[in-house]
Amino acid sequence: SPLVIAIDGPSGSGKSSVSKAVARSLGLSYLDTGAMYRAATWWCLHSGIELTDATAVADAVRAMPLVMGVDPAAPTVTVGGTDIGEAIRETSISASVSAVATNLDVRAELGRLQRAAIEEAGHADSFSQGRGIVAEGRDITTVVAPDADVRVLLTASEEARLARRSLEVHGDADAASVEATRDQVLRRDADDSTVVQFHVAADGVVTVDSSDLDFDQTVQAVLDVVAA
Ligand code: C5P
Repeated sequence: SPLVIAIDGPSGSGKSSVSKAVARSLGLSYLDTGAMYRAATWWCLHSGIELTDATAVADAVRAMPLVMGVDPAAPTVTVGGTDIGEAIRETSISASVSAVATNLDVRAELGRLQRAAIEEAGHADSFSQGRGIVAEGRDITTVVAPDADVRVLLTASEEARLARRSLEVHGDADAASVEATRDQVLRRDADDSTVVQFHVAADGVVTVDSSDLDFDQTVQAVLDVVAA
């Protein structure tokens, strides 16, 4: 039967790269739900919608022609045929995404699409031998797939998270870069925390703390939870 692995965590926990590696290692599909919130933000900004207009934002997201490519070796995000995989990583999107993600109608719509993708991965056999999916985000273990076979909360100390984000965004983790990253990351996590809870593991969710683990060790720690 298909295997569903749900992984949540704050930004800088290494969630995306770890989830991708776990999916590749097990031959499963991969769904980046954060990319869907980013795509929704890109779509609203692209359509000239005021992010403070909750009704307009929700209507726009319901009409968004989003297609998520779930091959972990090459995940894609396209809207109406336009590849926005790179555009959604820009600072302007990161700065606005919480405004869209705290819209409860948007969460209902994207949650519906996420459940459909998880369901679909249980049938499809497009690029892998196995059936199933690794879905990662902030509310996958609790709201989207609370009945997943494996549920992991990937955490890391604030220091480790800021250093990782700084490396991603600035290419280094010296004091100035970490400081520049701090405000953005902590503000986004605080804003997100008003509607989703991802700092404490829910009942039955296994915590993997990556603070003192390198990338390969973190992937192995998650694979150990899957095998347990
Ligand atoms: O994981 P990433 O940093 O790309 O997520 C971008 C944003 O998407 C988060 O800051 C949060 O606002 C939103 N998000 C969410 N629920 C999820 C995944 C992401 O609200 N399951």
